[in-house]
Amino acid sequence: MNLVWYRNNLRTADNHPLVQACRGQSPVIALYCFDPRHFEKDRFGFKRTEKFRARFLIETVTSLRQQLAKLNIPLLIYRAKPETLLPRIAQQLRVRNIFLQREWTRDEMQVLESVRRADGMDRVQFQQSPDQFLLHPDDLRLAAPDNPPPIFTRFRQLVEKQPERTLPVRKPLPTPPPRALQNLDAARGAPLQDRIPSLEDLGLNSFSTDRRSAFPFKGGELEARQRIDHYFWQTENLKRYKHTRNGLVGTDYSAKLSPWLANGSLSPRQVYWQVKAFEQQVTANEDTYWLVFELLWRDFFKYISLKHGERIFQLGGILQKDYEWHRAPGELERWINGETPSDFINANMREIAASGWMSNRGRQNVASYFAREQKQDWRIGAAYFESLLLDCDVHSNYGNWMYISGIGSDPRKRHFNIDSQAQRYDPDGAYRNLWLKEPNR
Ligand SMILES: Cc1cc2nc3c(=O)[nH]c(=O)nc-3n(C[C@H](O)[C@H](O)[C@H](O)COP(=O)(O)OP(=O)(O)OC[C@H]3O[C@@H](n4cnc5c(N)ncnc54)[C@H](O)[C@@H]3O)c2cc1C
Repeated sequence: MNLVWYRNNLRTADNHPLVQACRGQSPVIALYCFDPRHFEKDRFGFKRTEKFRARFLIETVTSLRQQLAKLNIPLLIYRAKPETLLPRIAQQLRVRNIFLQREWTRDEMQVLESVRRADGMDRVQFQQSPDQFLLHPDDLRLAAPDNPPPIFTRFRQLVEKQPERTLPVRKPLPTPPPRALQNLDAARGAPLQDRIPSLEDLGLNSFSTDRRSAFPFKGGELEARQRIDHYFWQTENLKRYKHTRNGLVGTDYSAKLSPWLANGSLSPRQVYWQVKAFEQQVTANEDTYWLVFELLWRDFFKYISLKHGERIFQLGGILQKDYEWHRAPGELERWINGETPSDFINANMREIAASGWMSNRGRQNVASYFAREQKQDWRIGAAYFESLLLDCDVHSNYGNWMYISGIGSDPRKRHFNIDSQAQRYDPDGAYRNLWLKEPNR
């Protein structure tokens, strides 16, 4: 029996572990665990996953089950720690191979180790694929032997083949064909499953989407494809991307793909090859190039965290710099509640609290305000983001926070002049009015 253990790769298309599991005739089942630890409070008192991303996850897993059902592959769903459940399933269903996406951050590694160490698991083979990258590590090694260079520009220059700026990106894998109908019986005999949880089951409040939200979309791989269809093909917004990406209001100033990329219902390779198709069929310009440029940032932070491990969570960051940091509860509260002296910061903080979303421009400014101006422990800001963001991705979140805090991939002292940023990006105050003056629904 082959088992696909789903974690942050919640899709059926371009999914290497799924394709591997489906090679040959062995029965295939899939598993997803809503791990209770993901909904507990962290050391700073924030729920690790708040309602926005939790609802998106529930929608994603619901969609994944439907997509897998089309392949006659049952998706087992539990609200449990994988280390208590997987060994039982492996024993009862005689699982011989577990296929999964490779993760390397602390919590994921600890869970995997506990699963491996459980009784009887020595009979099970684990096959991990580095499936979350745009550039496969084997291909990167060839392009950038000192991988990864510590500075983004150097990383980019090494991986881009000049003069066309092409990248060694692998083609997406097709979804495997449906298995024989009897594969649906493969999960018979598994421990009693839980239903897909509601927000209340996870200890969170249900809510309706704020009408001002810049990300009013649902989770799931079909929704991700619809978003690409809208942004690339129907509106052709992609051909203006570089000129609009610093916007603040509405759904279309940027591609808004990050929540699907973060939980893996969309792969960066799928996005890349859609950009290439657009360049062939519509236009290739600086804007289409820039979307790929941003996807490279995403990869860069993943390679940085792969290289530096635990350091991305430490106060001194990957540079191990010893700056002055404070922890002032009043300061934190004013930042979170959007009650600082800056209305631009306040509007952004109200937006994330009401919708789980904030633009890249907003994120840079509020992080700079918190870590640079107020000199507050940047990890508290990162933990608050982790709790609320729809698109939280541990590598991008901690990577960007470190970068802005001066302890990451850019040793320069970055500092945003928030007043001039507000004037430049919100000259008529429309964004600030939206979040500070208008009632929410
Ligand atoms: C303090 C801070 C925290 C952040 N935390 C996260 C996070 O947890 N998860 C996350 O996905 N992004 C994070 N970002 C990066 C960026 O803000 C978001 O990726 C982007 O706003 C998502 O919107 P979009 O999909 O419309 O992006 P687009 O502008 O359309 O970009 C396309 C894709 O490129 C990638 N990308 C763009 N900018 C960045 C960047 N600076 N770093 C890494 N990848 C990028 C994303 O995958 C994004 O979906 C953070 C940025 C800052 C400054």
